[in-house]
Amino acid sequence: MLDRQKRPVDYLRISVTDRCNLRCIYCMPPEGVEYKPHAEILRYEEIIRVVAAGAALGIKRVRLTGGEPLVRKGLPALIGSLAAIEGIEDISLTTNGTLLGPLAAELKEAGLGRVNISLDTLDPRKFRLVTRGGELERVWDGIEQALKLGLNPVKINVVVIKGLNDGELADFARLTREAPLHVRFIELMPLGDDREWANSHRLSLPEQRRAISHLGPLEPVQIPGGGPAQYYRLPGGKGSIGFISALSEHFCARCNRLRLTADGKVRPCLASDQELDLKCVLRAGGDTEAIREILVQAVNAKPVGHRLEVQAQDETGGKRYRYMCQIGG
Ligand code: SAM
Ligand code: SF4
Repeated sequence: MLDRQKRPVDYLRISVTDRCNLRCIYCMPPEGVEYKPHAEILRYEEIIRVVAAGAALGIKRVRLTGGEPLVRKGLPALIGSLAAIEGIEDISLTTNGTLLGPLAAELKEAGLGRVNISLDTLDPRKFRLVTRGGELERVWDGIEQALKLGLNPVKINVVVIKGLNDGELADFARLTREAPLHVRFIELMPLGDDREWANSHRLSLPEQRRAISHLGPLEPVQIPGGGPAQYYRLPGGKGSIGFISALSEHFCARCNRLRLTADGKVRPCLASDQELDLKCVLRAGGDTEAIREILVQAVNAKPVGHRLEVQAQDETGGKRYRYMCQIGG
């Protein structure tokens, strides 16, 4: 599918749940979010119908996200069904890693190709702070299992936050020397209630680069399923370092994706609250043609770019319509 800017759209990010076992400070308010009742969450059969309809339109890659996707039971079975859909070439997962260790083998067996694990700090105390209670050790176990099983690539998503982990970027980058890990530094986006906090705690892309410049020259490299990041390798490194910068350097011109929320809405853009109701079509007995129609409408509704840097706090009345955990990142 081509959108109105002639961008090819072949990637669907699916949030399988709005529930999470962590409450990261940049993603959720301290009190957490109100979860949708189970009846409002798409059933696996419904997700499979959407992906099959999308595959016929040219969707080739699917990423499962959340909330925390691994808190939803039966994910390996969903992966198995998605992998069997003609045209789907790649299934990936974005997870906080806390439940990954014990499940990794089953997920791979079912057809999971690769995994992105979110980890913002290597310090257990800071990890508890940023996730509001998480245990770093469990994430490490997940990373180790993913590497051991040969999931490839294994990417580590690091949201960079001034005053919290901006002193650790070189430590993260060094991990890529010894192990085939692909560490991606992500600019903090103002997608919570407190945009001023996000804007004042963001470390820009040039500042991130400066923080690791003493480690040696960065050689540009290509990574499978690279996405919006630019990747580099340290001299002799087994892995890579990527930078994802939604604000310092827009990547909207290369945007190739649609998002499906856990409650069945298709979002043409992460940063815009525009949504198309696919669940309503599914539950009204809509056929494959009706599902395709919504997907095509969503592709046509993709904006040229986001306006995150100018969006005022009061455009959403101060409160977010959806937090990141309810979209899927
Ligand atoms: N729970 C899973 C996880 O943490 O990987 C999947 C969902 S989470 C919403 C997906 C990604 O969004 C994570 O890598 C997270 O760090 C990122 N994210 C959440 N809020 C963000 C923000 N305000 N700015 C930048 N990235 C954010
Ligand atoms: Fe949960 Fe992921 Fe959001 Fe953290 S970033 S609160 S793990 S959904």
